[in-house]
Amino acid sequence: MGKTDDQHEKNCPLAGVDRRLEDAHQLWHRAEAEYFDPENFRMFAQNTIQTLRTVTWRLQNHKAIFADFDAWYGPWQERMRADQLMRWLHDARTKIEHQGDLEIHSFVRAEILASYLSSEVPRMEVRAELFATPMELLKGIPKDALEKHVLKNGTLRIQRRWVENNLPDHELLDALAIAYGKTKEIVHDAHRHLGLPEPMTVDGRTGEKFDAPALGWRMPCMIAHEARRELLISLTNGSRLSLVPQALNLTEQDRKELAQKTDLNLYSAMKEKYDSLDTLSEAYFGMIRQVFNRDGYHVPMMFFFRGTELVKFFGYEIEDRAQKYVINRSLAQEALRYGADAVLMVNEVWTSLMNEVGPYEFAVDAPNRQEALTMVLVRKEGDIIHYQAIIRRENDKPALGETNVARNGATYIAAPFYEAWGRPIPAEWIAKKPPSR
Ligand SMILES: [Zn+2]
Ligand SMILES: [Zn+2]
Repeated sequence: MGKTDDQHEKNCPLAGVDRRLEDAHQLWHRAEAEYFDPENFRMFAQNTIQTLRTVTWRLQNHKAIFADFDAWYGPWQERMRADQLMRWLHDARTKIEHQGDLEIHSFVRAEILASYLSSEVPRMEVRAELFATPMELLKGIPKDALEKHVLKNGTLRIQRRWVENNLPDHELLDALAIAYGKTKEIVHDAHRHLGLPEPMTVDGRTGEKFDAPALGWRMPCMIAHEARRELLISLTNGSRLSLVPQALNLTEQDRKELAQKTDLNLYSAMKEKYDSLDTLSEAYFGMIRQVFNRDGYHVPMMFFFRGTELVKFFGYEIEDRAQKYVINRSLAQEALRYGADAVLMVNEVWTSLMNEVGPYEFAVDAPNRQEALTMVLVRKEGDIIHYQAIIRRENDKPALGETNVARNGATYIAAPFYEAWGRPIPAEWIAKKPPSR
């Protein structure tokens, strides 16, 4: 759970404002914790709304420490009035204070993940009891959505959602997270305007610092929170999936032990400074090749970058294709959480011809398939770059062919990241895609 830093609050003349904002953050978590208890959820959601509104009032009470409060605050007020969500927050608070409770309803959203493209995800949303069983929901999904591929490779994702009558397009907790971010942006601007140090966005557990503007000023714990409540069920065998990619956070002790065991020169590419992602990715694929040569395999990994700075990397295991769709989506949300704007994805894959259907999707079914070690650079802006080396298995010891590099092309594994970043999926990816893949 994120938390604003205590040190800041001790010395800040806007401490009263900072504390109110932190109260709103804590109340948001209480609402989240009570998600399945309608009465308590309503109480804490309403409390969060009221508290968020008092943040800006407290700010106005600090008028005296600004030389030019009205000139500074006027444009912010304009902006809040023009913002649909902030207008809703304002009206919701008025309603709570003067008329009574918000009108909220619970929905169940059921989706089948059997593709990387959201446009291909069968989805239904029903006004439902929070506790409808997965099998009841499955029965309601259109039969034509459940073709062979889906039953073999699909995952049923079930999300419960609270929606307020006057804000039908947002899940309520998510709306509050966004409103929290918008409020926090004003508080930060007040600090900047007064020449005060800004509160940092820090993970209370690990001490990691986050880039608040990149998160829409939300706390990292307020992004992708629905994943903590969703239920994932494999359509192959009905089992419940829980897939949490492990971030590779090394402690000092881990590092020492690793240094004794392994050749750290092998990983020197991760220490270098680069002037572009093009040169960075080239160096990383060199490293990936060396690791493969040493071990005879490479686990699937993702590296997150902000600019050319490595912010996080993950290793994970995949048992079947259904899990790939799920893991890929959850890592795309992680990328957003860490403010990453570029990702390197390392995989061992089956490949037929790289330029055909999009690099690897379903190449496992192609007649002339070959194994390959691949790495794909996907970024918020700029080309996709594919690195690939064919794996030859002769005399038991696997060997890599030369590195091939290609740019762009339909790259379905990139789709969840494009969506997370708000980058449109190129129309030709969808046009090129064979049906039901
Ligand atoms: Zn939090
Ligand atoms: Zn402060």
